Amino acid sequence: MTDLPTLTSDCAQCAALCCVGLTLDKGDLFSFDKPAGTPCPNLSGHLCACHSQLEEIGNRGCVLYDCAGAGQRVVQMRFNGESWRDDPTLLPAMLRDFEQMKPLHERMKQLTEAGALALPPALETERQRLLRKCARLWADTPALARDFEAFLDAIVPLSEA
Ligand code: SF4
Ligand code: SF4
Repeated sequence: MTDLPTLTSDCAQCAALCCVGLTLDKGDLFSFDKPAGTPCPNLSGHLCACHSQLEEIGNRGCVLYDCAGAGQRVVQMRFNGESWRDDPTLLPAMLRDFEQMKPLHERMKQLTEAGALALPPALETERQRLLRKCARLWADTPALARDFEAFLDAIVPLSEA
């Protein structure tokens, strides 16, 4: 089987890319608006100053969020552990790479979970092919997205059985 990157978040190895890169929309999941590309006002260094009170302050969306390991991979593999805190000129490229990497990690996570199903041989071969491809790439591609969606469509009946 392909060597896969870690598919769980390791925020200590990241640079709070989600807390900077993502848009927050005031509503059920977030208690305030924040535009993409702007550090959250609750961010202190790379840490959330209200991490233990996210539910209480109305930011359940932060608790639910999972980058599937894309954040730390970008910081460690693409930027050698550097941070936009030390060099703000890195920020646009870091956020761009994070946006490109995240769908690949989400796909790898879903493909890994699909491995628990009793897939017919042809679908298992396709699952492994897609995993290898996701692990090799640094950005999603239209062809990969198409093949991934086709794979999901094919396994829906099996996952509901
Ligand atoms: S992008 Fe991922 S690893 Fe980085 S801080 Fe956010 S959840 Fe943690
Ligand atoms: S509230 Fe905390 S976890 Fe949520 S975006 Fe802001 S800094 Fe990040």
